[in-house]
Amino acid sequence: MQDHKLIIDFHCHSRAESSVDRMEIVSCDPLKNISEGFHTIGYHPWWHHEHLTQKELFLIENEISGNNNCLAIGECGLDKLKGAAEEIQTSNFLKQIEIANRLKAPVIIHCVKRYNEVIYLYKKHAQTQWTVHGFSRNKILAKSLLDLGIRLSVAPHHAMTLSMTEMLRYLPHDMFFLETDSDRRTPIRERYALMAQIKSFNIEDLADIVHENVCAFFGPKFINL
Ligand SMILES: [Zn+2]
Repeated sequence: MQDHKLIIDFHCHSRAESSVDRMEIVSCDPLKNISEGFHTIGYHPWWHHEHLTQKELFLIENEISGNNNCLAIGECGLDKLKGAAEEIQTSNFLKQIEIANRLKAPVIIHCVKRYNEVIYLYKKHAQTQWTVHGFSRNKILAKSLLDLGIRLSVAPHHAMTLSMTEMLRYLPHDMFFLETDSDRRTPIRERYALMAQIKSFNIEDLADIVHENVCAFFGPKFINL
């Protein structure tokens, strides 16, 4: 029975080979391939260097409102080191937040070194739930996001800093997810094992906790499988 606990990969960009006890939420770009199973839809700041057009925005709006397997907007967000010019990133992110608000969709955020702005935009505009994915920073930054109600998706691996390990230990049970973000050199099950060790859980309980968190974040579309 233990072998069949559902292990959820909260964020990746392609589906691994199928498995009865593993589920991936694939983050898709509407101008590329849209995955058939559970997925999210959004424009990543790395890949879109111009202001998004109405037509491009309509593609995500259409997908989220018309496809029961499309669970959230994202990933979208802000990256100081890579991608479109700062002002374009902000504008494109805001437009996607507006769609999320209008369609009551949760948002999955990519953020590199622009956390102050993400926090500012969340306070000013967010009307739905947000998760920052790929979070690997310290406990203090984690706390400032968690205190606002922003969840964190993390990818434990074998070469973590002490500060990341401390942050993972600190994460409240109802506020995190686990992901690979397509780096399958460390498969999702191995990441669950690492997290279970850090949290002093067994993997089965950890799988249940993450499953509950995923239900709470994505809501009816996910729960009414
Ligand atoms: Zn990603």
